[in-house]
Amino acid sequence: MSEKLSFVSPTANSPWGTYLSQVDRVVPYLGPLARWVETLKRPKRALIVDVPIEMDDGTIAHFEGYRVQHNMSRGPGKGGVRFHPDVTLEEVMALSAWMTIKTAAVNLPYGGAKGGIRVDPKKLSLQELEKITRRYTSEIGIIIGPHTDIPAPDVNTNGQIMAWMMDTYSMNVGGTATGVVTGKPLHLGGSLGRVKATGRGVFVTGREAARRLGMDLRGARIAVQGFGNVGSVAAELFAEAGAKIVAVQDHTGTIVNTNGLDLAKLIPVANKEGVVAFKSGGDIVPNEDFWNVACDILIPAALEGQITAERAQKTTAKLVLEGANGPTVPQADDILAERGVLVVPDVICNAGGVTVSYFEWVQDFSSFFWDEDEINVRLDRIMMNALNQIWDTADKHKITLRTATYAVACERILMARQERGLYP
Ligand code: GLU
Repeated sequence: MSEKLSFVSPTANSPWGTYLSQVDRVVPYLGPLARWVETLKRPKRALIVDVPIEMDDGTIAHFEGYRVQHNMSRGPGKGGVRFHPDVTLEEVMALSAWMTIKTAAVNLPYGGAKGGIRVDPKKLSLQELEKITRRYTSEIGIIIGPHTDIPAPDVNTNGQIMAWMMDTYSMNVGGTATGVVTGKPLHLGGSLGRVKATGRGVFVTGREAARRLGMDLRGARIAVQGFGNVGSVAAELFAEAGAKIVAVQDHTGTIVNTNGLDLAKLIPVANKEGVVAFKSGGDIVPNEDFWNVACDILIPAALEGQITAERAQKTTAKLVLEGANGPTVPQADDILAERGVLVVPDVICNAGGVTVSYFEWVQDFSSFFWDEDEINVRLDRIMMNALNQIWDTADKHKITLRTATYAVACERILMARQERGLYP
């Protein structure tokens, strides 16, 4: 008998509601460990902080920040920090829970955590961005640390922000704590291969899924939503393998070219001004039309809740690769399964980022750095082993890859919970 959480009111398609229904679906496959499942339905710890800064014009502005540690049964908390105007506690809770499942799915010795600030960073000057990052880090400094909880980049955060976070934490503890965050610049204890790791993982898992489906990547048509560090890197790798990127959507709009977009030209324009500025390379269409574009592979690599029931009905894709966290609502998941569309779920598909974050953390502790080939070989091996195990589990129980990933991950998490026991 457990009390309901009072501080969130999830709905069926909200991030936390989506996560809860994903957990409910795995319960029948947990055997006696199901006794512990309630532990996954609530965060271990959630911190809300006030982040006041002096703006360039002399005014004082306050922002709301969060750090949620969902589960630490298998190791320290791990997960990114997101700067976005729509960030909420409920969203960060769901994102932290997906990190718990993700780190367990690829068997990294971590739990799950996530952080965020409710702010539009595009409206801040560089100086304001630095101030907000440092004050936020100082506020959450009471619960993060190299052995307790290790932040990393996520939506709208990058290596520079990680450098400020590392510096702020280090100044507060009186040392240089490189292991407190990952995704740092290379000369500050960062790792080769980290920037491209998430996109690379999407490609590696997607290539294997396509192979198993008998889909030839040469000539395969791909639609990508979100063209940041995940979507653009995955798109490049698929294009190198012979696929055509027929549609890309970002915060500025949607561009379509059925002959395939020229990525060498699109990427520099998109990085500076967004995809819509590349008018000469394709047709600009209304955002909702993105979901109608004829394609074989769909890569949602932006935010949560993008694949709704209606869009799941519309898509012509045979394979969905979830580069984003939580892009598919539960009802859409069912529709895709009924329609025979294979979904490689976020908690395995985009795990490449946190996997190389783990390599970075290990390298920081040993102060011995690996070359990029070694990183990529190890990354590919971890992703392939995890995917193969998940695929076998899905085949055995005749369940979706998502529920199979939860089955593999939740068994690891709840076994650790059971073996550790409750304290006191
Ligand atoms: N933000 C990334 C994710 O959602 C990476 C987290 C990390 O490297 O800790 O998986």
